[in-house]
Amino acid sequence: MFKKILIANRGEIALRIQRACREMGIKSVVVYSEADREAKYVKLADEAVCIGPAPSAQSYLSMPAIISTAEVTDAEAIHPGYGFLSENADFAERVEKSGFVFIGPSSESIRTMGDKVSAKQAMIKSGVPCVPGSEGALTDDPKEILRQARTIGYPVIIKAAGGGGGRGMRVVHTEAALLNAVQTTRTEAAAAFGNPAVYMERFLENPRHVEIQVLADAHRNAVWLGERDCSMQRRHQKIIEEAPAPGIARRVIERIGERCAAACKKIGYRGAGTFEFLYQDGEFFFIEMNTRVQVEHPVTELVTGIDIVQMQIRVAAGEKLPFNQRAVQLRGHAIECRINAEDPYKFTPSPGRITLWHAPGGPGVRVDSHIYTNYTVPPNYDSMVGKIIVHGDTRAQALARMRIALSETVLEGISSNIALHRELMADAKFVEGGTSIHYLESWLAQHRR
Ligand code: ADP
Repeated sequence: MFKKILIANRGEIALRIQRACREMGIKSVVVYSEADREAKYVKLADEAVCIGPAPSAQSYLSMPAIISTAEVTDAEAIHPGYGFLSENADFAERVEKSGFVFIGPSSESIRTMGDKVSAKQAMIKSGVPCVPGSEGALTDDPKEILRQARTIGYPVIIKAAGGGGGRGMRVVHTEAALLNAVQTTRTEAAAAFGNPAVYMERFLENPRHVEIQVLADAHRNAVWLGERDCSMQRRHQKIIEEAPAPGIARRVIERIGERCAAACKKIGYRGAGTFEFLYQDGEFFFIEMNTRVQVEHPVTELVTGIDIVQMQIRVAAGEKLPFNQRAVQLRGHAIECRINAEDPYKFTPSPGRITLWHAPGGPGVRVDSHIYTNYTVPPNYDSMVGKIIVHGDTRAQALARMRIALSETVLEGISSNIALHRELMADAKFVEGGTSIHYLESWLAQHRR
């Protein structure tokens, strides 16, 4: 096992990885920007190294700064967390070429899955069902584009092969609008992702977002750890996640979960990963794979009892997974609310000094957050400042525990979406379960003040 790991991230996930290292007796080095000098995990770290000024491009995205810090601190491996360089194949490659272990899949796997066209092709080959769409990237031939859209059927969605974070997508309802939409998306994609390739899919009108967590080792063992329902999204960003997904028959989930584990073996995948699907009318359609730990991993940890971050470290060190599929048993229900420093209804970020933070507690409550009273949320990064995760024997108990947890939580000095979560935990449709990816946006349109 590694003696020392460098954590190339910030915020709650840096703290989460640090906790996993501690439990495993591994020393951790954290890198931080000038804006994160006062962060909790920086103070708690075995070693902390400032790698640059606040803008991410000069700190958390600076490959030379991170790799040279690993060199001077004698770290053996680098954990990239999520966001930043976590899905950057060039970074993974440079880490390995510099003689360190990248805690994640191979750079080839990241590259394949990072391009949505090649990811879909790999999935089709591995028997994972995908949203019906164009075969590969769209050509320049307008007649061919029109023909493909007719075959798929309107509405269609044009998506950038290199897209991410809910950007680079355009829905098209009529043939008249198609060619313009393709051209605009191409231009935007070239500017935003440096890759003008776009592809086309059938636009699903009322799907749920259901994803499968997998873990695979370097010895061709792969398991799936159940599913998560992440349909509560605003601007294509998740704010509430839960496991299991309410109201979907276990055998339907099992069929897709087994396919994901089989696909991991087929493509030689190693590490933690997530297969994201849209689920509609009893069917799963693959949209993309995330080759890293996800924000919402704790709900899976609570229902399986498996520490995903520790497993990432173990398999990166070459260990075999210490359990097989049969040993993965789901227990109870877990829900996560992402706490964002933002206006709860308009989503404008609200950085600044936290004058009071009181975290909830009690049975079945977990809080993953790096904030504390008097901590200043920097304006430079993502607005998420923590996660409240609850577990109960049933969904009803998990909901009750989340309501109590949210009622206990005090966060003053900045705006947060806690009030929104309180309302949603009392919303009849959400409580019933199984809402689509459009539900939260329409709820907000009705309740926006
Ligand atoms: P990103 O990498 O930007 O997150 P995804 O491919 O995961 O892109 O899609 C993000 C979101 O866009 C999905 O969660 C869903 O809300 C919507 N979406 C993507 N593809 C489709 C589709 N074919 N039909 C309907 N909605 C879609």
